Amino acid sequence: MAKIICVANQKGGVGKTTTAVNLSASLAVAERRVLLVDMDPQGNAGSGVGADKDLLEESIYDALIDDAPAARIVLKTELPYLHLLPATSDLAGAELELVSVTDRERKLKKILASLADSYDYIFIDCPPSLNLLTINAMTAAHSVLIPLQCEFYAMEGLSQILKTINLIQQGLNKSLSIEGILLTMFDARNNLSRQVGEEMRAHFPKETLQTVIPRNVRLSEAPSHGKPICLYDITSRGATSYMDLAKEIIAREVSHG
Ligand code: ADP
Ligand code: MG
Repeated sequence: MAKIICVANQKGGVGKTTTAVNLSASLAVAERRVLLVDMDPQGNAGSGVGADKDLLEESIYDALIDDAPAARIVLKTELPYLHLLPATSDLAGAELELVSVTDRERKLKKILASLADSYDYIFIDCPPSLNLLTINAMTAAHSVLIPLQCEFYAMEGLSQILKTINLIQQGLNKSLSIEGILLTMFDARNNLSRQVGEEMRAHFPKETLQTVIPRNVRLSEAPSHGKPICLYDITSRGATSYMDLAKEIIAREVSHG
């Protein structure tokens, strides 16, 4: 049974998609069977692993709204161990359309239950808001991975998502846990970056992951080539840091069983 991890933060541009794509790919390189689920209407996770949005006949939208069988929608990628459940822009309308659907918060959970046996990990890339799509993701997941950019308002942003996680834990998903807080776009030469990092470790010693993702231009170039970093530039600091993150996650397989 797959471990389902949703990558969420209501703020845009903090490294959610970059993390979902490159952590998925790094685990796939380590021969873990991974499904990357794109829950953002922008579809950036899909294009990050080489999917062409314009050529898609079906997407997660069809599974959410029209009950299309998810296995039919799953796509292969360049990495044999990495599959994709793609999104298209019509997903933006799904939020409104779901409102009238029964059990609207649990649609994704049901979809993923039909796929979970085929994978070791399922990563869900969330949109930059705490809307019904993100609520579906948090309801379907075992844990939440929170990418956090080391900037001035990081702490405020974090308390908002922790509140949402708390609400979900009280109702829709009692066993939801926090996989970790991931410091992204870290710049060791920048005082603010270092301060925010230290503050996070002081306030959230258990939650803050050991691995830190540095600001690395190769990570921002890779999506335009439709490749995760390990296929674009395996020697880059971006690639090694996401490999380190994969190792940190894999190390939990043993300790958590
Ligand atoms: P989100 O999904 O949270 O909106 P993205 O992962 O799309 O954020 O990242 C926002 C932008 O920052 C993208 O252009 C991405 O390529 C770039 N980016 C993300 N992480 C890094 C990093 N560690 N170093 C450099 N650029 C990064
Ligand atoms: Mg994104």
